[in-house]
Amino acid sequence: MNKNYKPETVCIQAGWEPKKGEPRVLPIYQSTTFKYENSDQMGRLFDLEDAGYFYTRLQNPTNDAVAAKITALEGGIAGMLTSSGQAANFYAVFNICEAGDHFVCSNSLYGGTFNLFGTTMKKQGISCTFVNPDASDEEIEAAFQPNTKALFAETISNPSLVVLDIERFANIAHRHGVPLIIDNTFATPINCRPFEWGADIVTHSTTKYMDGHAMSVGGAIIDSGNFDWMAHKEKFPGLTEPDESYHGIIYAQKFGKMAYIQKATAQLMRDLGSIQSPQNSFLLNVGLETLHLRVPRHCENAMKVAEFLESNEKVAWVNYAGLSNNKYHKLAEKYMPNGTCGVISFGLKGGRDVSVKFMDKLELAAIVTHVADARTCVLHPASHTHRQMTDEQLLEAGVAPDLIRFSVGIENAADIIADLKQALSAV
Ligand SMILES: *Cc1c(COP(=O)(O)O)cnc(C)c1O
Repeated sequence: MNKNYKPETVCIQAGWEPKKGEPRVLPIYQSTTFKYENSDQMGRLFDLEDAGYFYTRLQNPTNDAVAAKITALEGGIAGMLTSSGQAANFYAVFNICEAGDHFVCSNSLYGGTFNLFGTTMKKQGISCTFVNPDASDEEIEAAFQPNTKALFAETISNPSLVVLDIERFANIAHRHGVPLIIDNTFATPINCRPFEWGADIVTHSTTKYMDGHAMSVGGAIIDSGNFDWMAHKEKFPGLTEPDESYHGIIYAQKFGKMAYIQKATAQLMRDLGSIQSPQNSFLLNVGLETLHLRVPRHCENAMKVAEFLESNEKVAWVNYAGLSNNKYHKLAEKYMPNGTCGVISFGLKGGRDVSVKFMDKLELAAIVTHVADARTCVLHPASHTHRQMTDEQLLEAGVAPDLIRFSVGIENAADIIADLKQALSAV
């Protein structure tokens, strides 16, 4: 595909590029396996000598077409789909960290990722130090150890809505010879392309804006191809030393800039599964075709809702980086000049109990765990997604106990505001 196409064209045209007589629309390759003509052809696939499909636990053509579209949107070199955003973040780190390794992560983080990194991966012997993303370079760099293998953060954190200074984080990571991994779920490549600011690897929960319709859970990992694994050979033996489970191939040598995604596919997917089902990636692709239309509308509506909330006397505080008085407005202007996302957080005067009561009065906005889809929805993280965290951990993660996460959909903004108005007048 033409490399100069703009994001709108990429959303529609990238990925599936049919040749003569092939279906115009991306087909669902609903097949676990793929046929070959002789034993040698199949053998070469297992030696990673030829590229090709053999089993859908590792790779599937429907998935690869959709991964190629997201890769094009992010301006990366290679990508893969996973069964969920959780799987994407796990693989992104586990692909370069093993037992005894360590990584550094922003503490403004999705609750699921916080549990994965802080508890589950710790049981596997991979430790993580959480840092305040607004701390000074010195404070963040103090968290690095000789066995540190990555720096991780979210572009716009869910649900605390902290906007990351991506360029600064990339510089910190690179000073320590490790890649910066960015979870770009909330911004999407329509509003921010972290590779342009020095990030090395991007992950997504495609469950959110990319799918956009709350139809399928999924994830993606995209590599910029920019991190030089061989230049830090001793840090990343998984990529720079022979893989005994593949007859001693060295990924970084054999696949060059494609090494990271090749390893994640050939090794992690082979051994752990967690691939996206082709049905789900087909639906994801339908969502991606309108991502460029939906994201600006989400932002436009969210801006109107944020302004309304700010002017309402029952509202104690509003956090939305689009507001000019927001702590992260300047960073948002730098990294996301066209808008941030459709998610707003706010608290009501009277605290936690009033916030919960208010949510129960909403009619249009539905209480769901989900966030970032076409329908307006709402959640109280302290009672729901972040329920496992102590009040202290909540505050550390920037999630106030009274915080309401309001995900503004693409309905008519006046209807969303009217719903908020009636629920506010009832508390
Ligand atoms: C939802 C979410 C995840 C987890 O993704 P799932 O698809 O639910 O597994 C990870 N990161 C962020 C920022 C999210 O919002």
